[in-house]
Amino acid sequence: MKPDEQYWNPILETLPRQKLQQFHLKKFKQILAWAYENSPFYRRLYKEAGLEPGDIKTLDDVRKVPKTEKSMLREAQRREPYPYGTILSVPLEQVTEYRQTSGTTGQPVYHPETWQDWEWSAESWAYALYAYGYRDYDRVFLPFGYSVNIAFWAGHYAAEKIGCEVIPGGVLDTEARILKMQELKATALMATPTYILGMADVARKRLGIDPAKDLYIRKITAAGEPGACIPGTKKRMEEAWGAKVYDQVGATEIGHWGFECQAQAGLHVLEAFHLVEIEDIETGTTITEPGKKGSMVVTTFDRFAHPCIRFDSKDIIEWNPEEKCECGRTFRRLKGGVVGRADDITKVKGVLLAPTAIEEVVRSIPELGDEYEVAVIKKGDIDDITLKVELMPDAKPGVEAVEAKLVQQLRLKTGLRYNLEFHDYGTLPRYDVKSKRFKDLRRKE
Ligand SMILES: [Zn+2]
Repeated sequence: MKPDEQYWNPILETLPRQKLQQFHLKKFKQILAWAYENSPFYRRLYKEAGLEPGDIKTLDDVRKVPKTEKSMLREAQRREPYPYGTILSVPLEQVTEYRQTSGTTGQPVYHPETWQDWEWSAESWAYALYAYGYRDYDRVFLPFGYSVNIAFWAGHYAAEKIGCEVIPGGVLDTEARILKMQELKATALMATPTYILGMADVARKRLGIDPAKDLYIRKITAAGEPGACIPGTKKRMEEAWGAKVYDQVGATEIGHWGFECQAQAGLHVLEAFHLVEIEDIETGTTITEPGKKGSMVVTTFDRFAHPCIRFDSKDIIEWNPEEKCECGRTFRRLKGGVVGRADDITKVKGVLLAPTAIEEVVRSIPELGDEYEVAVIKKGDIDDITLKVELMPDAKPGVEAVEAKLVQQLRLKTGLRYNLEFHDYGTLPRYDVKSKRFKDLRRKE
């Protein structure tokens, strides 16, 4: 591969930091002025804060701009024009695509795109897919329901943009999808980590197909859940498929904002299109150095119908210690990926617990199946955590040995004790999309 062939955009992806920062300031000012002029929601927000677009002269000034969050978007969408409300910054007739958020609680947020914005979405995904090695000779399988949620829609168009051949596997069931991938010798796949593991399970158990040997998938885009940034889960996916698995992150309101490179050494922020800040959850101060986790505040450039400016995404992230990545990209990296959501991190017995820490422990023990379930209840004044796991049918050591290993690792990684329940393989619930393995039932007890 020639050096410049590894990047979708060789200029922007290798721009020196100082120039990248100048570029960020210019782009931030542009989207701020656009929103101020065209969105009643943003104009009111900034007028109330006494801020005008001209007040932003340096990147540090960005912190003067009021933050936004999901509840504000929902509130603005109760107003005209229906259904996008006062954030809409283009005439309604310019909207060509309807999407909505896929969260399982609360009213969804609607997301409009103009054709230009939609091209932006495909372009932003192309940076990532190209970094994973997708090329025009690839045949890409998309096993997802083409619905109102944004999910892998942009992945579909980005793969086409790169020149790949795209197979839409929407209406097929899991078995039919696997057989289609085999028949057409598909070389790449995009899905959620939960479904990537679930498909491999179905292939082996119901069809007698070993994805690593009998299929041709060699690169997998994992999105929609943290899985691919959790080492234990990533290893399971890569071994099951005999493929490289790359972590990709995004959200409906923000767009696709981060990807892994071939070095698989942390998530690169897609700084061609986004300004990412990290804020301390307790103090609200900006974290610029590695070593401390915080909540992501993100601004999206060049997406004009529904601007996203200093949006508090509640994703918990941390800057990576080394500045330079071996891939040569100058886009800043995160340590791991999105390690959790501010909403998901709860205090149990006075200790901060991220559900991803439990997943890392379960999936790092080979004698345990992929599935697990956590339930926190209150017994009197005391929090009580139950962890259900599945024992693999061919697990060599007895349940006592596995239990000892699990207890020790949980104590080490989460600092907590659990009631453990071992179940037969295949008896815990399976999920296709966003999983609900962590249940906090304390308020209902
Ligand atoms: Zn890199």
